[in-house]
Amino acid sequence: MSEQKIPYKIYLNEDEMPKNWYNVRADMKVKPAPLVNPGTLQPMTAADLAPVFCDELIAQELDNDTREVPIPDEIRGFYKMYRPSPLVRAYCLEEKLGTPAHIYYKFEGNNTSGSHKLNSAIAQAYYAKKQGLKGVTTETGAGQWGTALSMACAYLGLDCKVYMVKVSYEQKPFRREVMRTYGASVTPSPSTETNVGRKILAEHPNTTGSLGCAISEAVEVATSNPGYRYVLGSVLNQVLLHQSVIGLETKIALDKYGVVPDIIIGCAGGGSNLGGLIAPFMGEKLRGEKDYRIIAVEPASCPSFTRGKFAYDFCDTGMICPLAKMYTLGAGFIPSPNHAGGLRFHGMSPVLSQLYHDGYMEATSAEQTAVFEAAEFFARTEGILPAPESSHAIKVAIDEAKKCKETGEAKNIVFGLTGTGYFDLVAYEQYNNGTMTDHIPTDEELAVGLAALPPQPTF
Ligand SMILES: *Cc1c(COP(=O)(O)O)cnc(C)c1O
Repeated sequence: MSEQKIPYKIYLNEDEMPKNWYNVRADMKVKPAPLVNPGTLQPMTAADLAPVFCDELIAQELDNDTREVPIPDEIRGFYKMYRPSPLVRAYCLEEKLGTPAHIYYKFEGNNTSGSHKLNSAIAQAYYAKKQGLKGVTTETGAGQWGTALSMACAYLGLDCKVYMVKVSYEQKPFRREVMRTYGASVTPSPSTETNVGRKILAEHPNTTGSLGCAISEAVEVATSNPGYRYVLGSVLNQVLLHQSVIGLETKIALDKYGVVPDIIIGCAGGGSNLGGLIAPFMGEKLRGEKDYRIIAVEPASCPSFTRGKFAYDFCDTGMICPLAKMYTLGAGFIPSPNHAGGLRFHGMSPVLSQLYHDGYMEATSAEQTAVFEAAEFFARTEGILPAPESSHAIKVAIDEAKKCKETGEAKNIVFGLTGTGYFDLVAYEQYNNGTMTDHIPTDEELAVGLAALPPQPTF
């Protein structure tokens, strides 16, 4: 076969878009551990979860067996407004690096929310609407998830209540205004609207809030208001299921040109984009059909995979959510204030945690100044201003491409470019001014969070 010239961007047609999500759990021999009730230490049933989450999403959360889950037409219709997303062959980057490697990235930043989070936001909002609910509640840190959810809710006519970590609410007014433009109510957390918020404010009147605290507020509001449920933008099995659209499109695009990846790289916060990108490739690996190197990249300042423990832990600091078995730094872990980008969650998707534990993927960490160096290099070379989160994957993709230069190997490297960095310019400003610093927690600092893990189930 004569070699086909691969275009700069491999676009799919609308009708080539996946019609099903792929549930990688169906192919896992060791399934991810179930969510557990913190009181009884028994697995959560659908009935236990029903006050918090939408019914159909609970069914997806608990379903470890169905391999293909049809994407409802309404969701595909919404996807078509911004999907299929391009798979870009990074010719310019390859040339600048002088590497024989072939580099591809799947770009998920081409929508107003600026990230892949919209893929799950529309799915979660759709199932809430279908259940006849009035609205959904959620938390947001930097604001990507809240923005994506507010867009999805506006489209479906659902009420959207976002609890935004107070420091971000005050320091990142732009995302807040995007959310309000899409009709969401945005409340700085901790607030005086909830019992948990009032309690935290009474104890710590000057707190600037945390993600864990905002989760607790959003869950309380969902469970105490009829017609509302809580939704979460990462970590959960259902979110990885929805995000599999990223990997499925990537595979269809690569298959068109007969390209087989050697290395697949993604940044890992709660694990949803990486879980989505690798899903169909991991499926082949689990079924013994193919082998790929799969690399998760996390910040050195919040290193759940590389320095955490694989154990049951809380997902929130208010400790009202179910326990999940995952690589964790402890629910009390708070990344240092100099941590610029996202990826600040203390835990990791139970699916990816199990796969990592069983040796199906690797993990590495990157320090933030090196990540921003890679971001700057990428922006100047490929033209896209990357999100700091995405730039963790860029950093490691560049490192791997440089290794290929040394060995002369023409490896195929695929990475996830999860979003754009237009709302992260304060971090870019620090980098440009030379005031950005790196913080790597000491073993002693990490020991504090890890010492506070809850009692472990014995089943
Ligand atoms: C939220 C976010 C991430 C990290 O979340 P995951 O669930 O680990 O994918 C990465 N990149 C961008 C742009 C994000 O908004």
